[in-house]
Amino acid sequence: MLLNCLKIKGGGVSVLSGGYLKKRLLRIQVGYLLSEGPGNSRTIPIAFSQRVQVDEDLYLDALTGNLALTRTKEGILALGALQVTHTRECDRCLKAFTHHFGLDVAELFALRSDASKSDFYIDSNGEIDLAPLLREEVLIEESYRAVCQDGCRGLSAASGNDLNEMDEAPELLEAEADEGLAIDPRLAVLKQLLL
Ligand SMILES: [Zn+2]
Repeated sequence: MLLNCLKIKGGGVSVLSGGYLKKRLLRIQVGYLLSEGPGNSRTIPIAFSQRVQVDEDLYLDALTGNLALTRTKEGILALGALQVTHTRECDRCLKAFTHHFGLDVAELFALRSDASKSDFYIDSNGEIDLAPLLREEVLIEESYRAVCQDGCRGLSAASGNDLNEMDEAPELLEAEADEGLAIDPRLAVLKQLLL
């Protein structure tokens, strides 16, 4: 069963709003796995090929992959590899571009009575919510510098013009290239907190 299709069928058109899928689609019912007991698992295909909301200010253009959900003594262990498509700003020329990246998920959703075991838990309806987890992971990914294309020339230090569209000599380009894809120091702190 495809998570996306299943939920859209059940929820009707109300899940589509302003051209994106609402974030409640990121909730997965795991009640049946809880009753089956430890050791049981299911692999859930995740197939969002259109814009989906993750938080008030965070949308993904696509989210696909597989998530293996295993009932453990502590709750539900979610393991999987997801592919994310997200529009973000190029760190050199500041233009929005489509960024694709892989996301490895390995997270315990604790039983409600055991919420101290993890930041994530199974709610009273027997559902796990992927949205807070995705938000955290996407923020970490976005804390790394990324460019719209190999060799993006960035903005001119003198005029502020996009050097990709001009013949202007990029004096500062080499220094900027040496910076590589270093993590923004302010966000490095956030990364440490999240690990
Ligand atoms: Zn760029």
